[in-house]
Amino acid sequence: MKRKTHKRVKYIFVTGGVLSSLGKGIAAASIGSLLECSGLKITLMKLDPYINVDPGTMNPFQHGEVYVTDDGAEADLDLGHYERFTHARMRRANNVTAGRIYHDVIQKERRGDYLGSTVQVIPHITDEIKKHIREVRHGVDAVICEIGGTVGDIESLPFLEAIRQFRYEVRPKDVLYVHLTLVPYIRTAGEVKTKPTQHSVQKLREIGIQPDILLCRTEKLLSKSIKKKIALFCNVDVDSVITAMDVKSIYQVPLSLHKEGLCANILRKLGLPVREPNLEQWQDINLKIKKPEGEVDIAIVGKYIELKESYKSLSEALVHGGIGNNLQVNFHWVDAEDLEKENGTQKLEHCDGVLVPGGFGERGIEGKIEAVQFARERKVPFFGICLGMHCAVIEFARHVANLKKANSAEFSSTSPYLIIDLLPDQNMNGNKGGTMRLGEFPCQLRKNSKAFQAYGFREICERHRHRYEFNNQYRIQLEEAGIQFSGLSPNGNLVEIVEIENHPWFVAGQFHPEFKSSPMEPHPLFKAFIAAARTFRKSFPDKCQGRPMEEVIAAGEVAFKYPYVAGRPEGMED
Ligand code: GLN
Repeated sequence: MKRKTHKRVKYIFVTGGVLSSLGKGIAAASIGSLLECSGLKITLMKLDPYINVDPGTMNPFQHGEVYVTDDGAEADLDLGHYERFTHARMRRANNVTAGRIYHDVIQKERRGDYLGSTVQVIPHITDEIKKHIREVRHGVDAVICEIGGTVGDIESLPFLEAIRQFRYEVRPKDVLYVHLTLVPYIRTAGEVKTKPTQHSVQKLREIGIQPDILLCRTEKLLSKSIKKKIALFCNVDVDSVITAMDVKSIYQVPLSLHKEGLCANILRKLGLPVREPNLEQWQDINLKIKKPEGEVDIAIVGKYIELKESYKSLSEALVHGGIGNNLQVNFHWVDAEDLEKENGTQKLEHCDGVLVPGGFGERGIEGKIEAVQFARERKVPFFGICLGMHCAVIEFARHVANLKKANSAEFSSTSPYLIIDLLPDQNMNGNKGGTMRLGEFPCQLRKNSKAFQAYGFREICERHRHRYEFNNQYRIQLEEAGIQFSGLSPNGNLVEIVEIENHPWFVAGQFHPEFKSSPMEPHPLFKAFIAAARTFRKSFPDKCQGRPMEEVIAAGEVAFKYPYVAGRPEGMED
């Protein structure tokens, strides 16, 4: 009889110690990429120990960006790294929080699923965690599972216990524990210190997990003797002590870990054939980052600018747009509220492009609208995303279409023209209007548009996360005033992209294109925006005649870098 062979799925658990922000997400994503480049099919998942059922309601100041998956899950921003570094597509199942686990267990308990037994952390919570881990294994060779938080936190304990048990439920050879720790360099002593790593591994071993590989985050390359010392104290073989060096760009991490032999080490330990990963793409990306042909200055007008983590995917997508054009992108984070002050828009005068990203709430809205006006009137390339698109149409309605006091229902109930509003009859994702439109939705592009030029095809799909939509009542009026609705939902009911005529590049979308950008495949709109910014920058060198711009400005020869020139040539495509 022919025996059915089951492919054995391998599991790599990534934990972190000493302190947070060591780059566990990037490390997990890099492991994913290295394995993928070696020919394995992989997926990644994140287990988060907090009690929120998902991060959707968490303050971006505390938790950073809320990432959105195709299937509309509001997820941890690490899933963004996973998608940017690998070809794995993330779904709701790829991010599980303690809140979700407890919620599901309590629901089962209420339904009577546990047949009268006492419901406990072990085994009920840990079983539920393991069930979620197994759920993502279909169709892949390896699952890389990152545990949020730091070893030693009370809240991570059930997760660590679950992954400890996991090894005994599958073959031990199918499970690998990778632990990321810190090896600080102490300047006064002139040496690196291994004690924090020793303690962190001790903590892990106390709960029964012996790490197989240590990734040691450090600013100095670890010497053989330091590696030996760590190996001895932490009970790992010396080749498994990997220097995870600080690097300038996160996209160097896969290459830097590969240099340390990480990929071969993982494959060997998991009993898989050791193959040399094909890292050409990463080499190419890093070359473009290191040796750009030029630079552009982009202003990002937002609300959470003190915490760049809240715009993680956005800033990465801008970097990708730069990679796609062989340019370095210089970020100028502008607090929208500062633009509301007198001469506030001066802050935008040295920029080659203005971007207004997504956001929620009224604070800073008028500043964002001023940024739009500045970009529109001065013909500076403009890119509006979600709330940025709302601001773009409000600005246009107020100042071009003469709909004074036009606003969004999110900020005003008394405005006579609610250009942006809730669509009460709109059936979104099975819910009535007022709830968020979340996840991937199709959009059709108008052929003669900047959006079409960028994408190169008519049908696109992009991810959404918003409540408010363009109010169709104003479509004709705004179109007559010069707005082009260049992207619509297939039934034509929802406005997805707007552009304006007589402007080199003014595109605003209702969706979040940043979630679908990667260094390998920069998002078409980000790429086109950066290209437009470069063209814009190039069109003004004559003022300087080879002198530094700052000198020309200081000499008072121009009021600012880019004076408004009426009738600036159109068609910014190179
Ligand atoms: N606050 C706006 C809305 O809910 C925009 C959201 C966003 O930018 N993601 O519609």
